[in-house]
Amino acid sequence: SEGIVLSEKVLEVDSFLNHQMDPVLMKEVGKEFARLFEAEGITKVLTIESSGIAPAIMAALELEVPMIFARKQKSLTLREDIYVEKVYSFTKEQSNDVTVSKKFLFPNDRVLIIDDFLAHGEAALGLARIAEQAGATVAGIGIVIEKSFQSGAQRIKETGYRGESLVRIASLADGKVTFATEETVH
Ligand code: 5GP
Repeated sequence: SEGIVLSEKVLEVDSFLNHQMDPVLMKEVGKEFARLFEAEGITKVLTIESSGIAPAIMAALELEVPMIFARKQKSLTLREDIYVEKVYSFTKEQSNDVTVSKKFLFPNDRVLIIDDFLAHGEAALGLARIAEQAGATVAGIGIVIEKSFQSGAQRIKETGYRGESLVRIASLADGKVTFATEETVH
């Protein structure tokens, strides 16, 4: 009810997730991710700045493990101390170098990747590549809002990672949000 449909492809949720943040809702989001992934032996939660941080820290708090947020940087000269992956930004329509310090991810880590939105899976799969560069295991991908009509969910499925989305949107057509569960069965 608070989401604003900006186009057939973009939903604005600035009132509770992307600008103003609702801590009570984020706490529940964290609890739900922790419940979904509690059997996976998660040792680190990994997200990307900035909107992934709130749901990720709440999940990490519930799981009692550290949370790492990858940094977005314009362009980097070669550095030995960081993992780097190129990630195309759905909202900014440009590629960023996404980086995580080698100090915080290790081969024995079981990583839970968290993000606010899933569109084409660029951010989530870029984070997964960073975890794999470290030799760590991607134990799951948790998304707050999945737009099921874009390619990300299918791409995650194809990689074999376990993906869980708390909200699934089937369509943003006609200026309204249609949830996947509300879809009529053809
Ligand atoms: P993807 O990498 O899956 O293509 O897109 C996900 C990223 O783009 C998320 O980190 C999120 O910040 C942003 N994003 C994608 N779609 C939307 C949207 O409809 N609304 C908002 N607010 N952000 C989006």
